Amino acid sequence: MAPQSTESGEMVRGKNLAVEDEWVAGVDLDAFKADMDELKVELEVAQGPEHEAHFHKIRFYTELFAVLGTAAMYLPVQWLVAPVLLGIATTARWTMVGHHTCHGGYDWLKQPKFNRFQFAAGPWRRAIDWFDWMLPEAWNTEHNNLHHYHLGEATDPDLVESNLDFLRRLPIPQVLKRLAVAIMACVWKWWYYAPNTFKHLVHQRNPKLLEGSNSHEPWIITDLLFKQPLDFLAVFTEALLPYAAYKFGVYPLPWLVLGYDAYINALWCVVLADVVANMYSFVIIVTNHAGNDLYRFDTPCAPYSGDFYLRAVVSSANFATGTDAIDFAHGWLNYQIEHHCFPTLSMLSYQQSQPRVKALCDKHGIPYVQESVFKRLLQLVNVMVGASSMRLYPEGVCAPSKAGKARKVAVSASVCASVIDTSTRRSPRISKRRLGLTSE
Ligand SMILES: [Zn+2]
Repeated sequence: MAPQSTESGEMVRGKNLAVEDEWVAGVDLDAFKADMDELKVELEVAQGPEHEAHFHKIRFYTELFAVLGTAAMYLPVQWLVAPVLLGIATTARWTMVGHHTCHGGYDWLKQPKFNRFQFAAGPWRRAIDWFDWMLPEAWNTEHNNLHHYHLGEATDPDLVESNLDFLRRLPIPQVLKRLAVAIMACVWKWWYYAPNTFKHLVHQRNPKLLEGSNSHEPWIITDLLFKQPLDFLAVFTEALLPYAAYKFGVYPLPWLVLGYDAYINALWCVVLADVVANMYSFVIIVTNHAGNDLYRFDTPCAPYSGDFYLRAVVSSANFATGTDAIDFAHGWLNYQIEHHCFPTLSMLSYQQSQPRVKALCDKHGIPYVQESVFKRLLQLVNVMVGASSMRLYPEGVCAPSKAGKARKVAVSASVCASVIDTSTRRSPRISKRRLGLTSE
């Protein structure tokens, strides 16, 4: 029988699988889960003083960039020193300090300020711990719950292929689509990400709002302004305005002491720093799960099942890894595979676990994608403009793990999120007790 051809590639003779997907048939999910569970426990037990010192080292360098960037606001803005340093600091506060603390990666320190349920919680702590366009509790809902536990599914709010469906289908030249992506990269945090994370917080606060609405349609600030003015007002006053007032109002103000020109120079520094932070975070974050060599899925899976670990690997891409300097430059988003397998570990744990996770994937015949962030950026842009597509995971080919199979029938999108939820700490409608959570 001649091999059949599909849009995803040549079919494997007699197996109804594309050549690129043939590995799926050889995976033993139970054995993979057993190995990954064992590694998870080992990594958790190993977290101690070395990991704490590492965390504070990363925090120190993050704040050093902020201090140097602030001092550099004295220099002419066109030198770009302050915008770059401040842009790095803003991104580092989010992707390394905020991200891992909000996941509970440092709960074991037993220090309230680094506990996931207290870090950046409420207006005051937000301003001190992690002040950015996104409301921390909105980010926790969208990222810690929905993205992490629906990775690559239609309900994953960060599924680029779905979110950019409009641009992918738009009948305009590719060059214009790529230009649109470049513009998007300069503004995406306040234009798209802050409103969209806020949307999921609103829906969590009041699930009735989900009824009759297209819950998968992203909230974009310019759309809200014209189509949903009340939602626009909520996003603007609760998430955007406090940060904008501080960043562009209060922060450059002291430079008035040196005169009006110094103040305008400082103001331009923070405006350009925001553009730098947008572009930088776009490159290291949005690239994590997009490409024609990564998979998306039609069905949900149970947390920490064999399926869960498998999806974390084949729906994520790592970048260059191995040293603190490399990892800091990538905002620690270069360990996306390990982070999705074990979302609640310290940054040092990811660095230490990477060769071992890769070895386990090799052992079990699971593809492990690790490439330069710039190659992944090209993959991302191609998906965004419709020049390429994600691979659809061939369901039901490898034997589901026993734990996964038993739980899968009980897993709905909402239950999956609620069971694992690490971040409903401040939701007025859903208490931690109701979700069976502790502060650990
Ligand atoms: Zn995460």
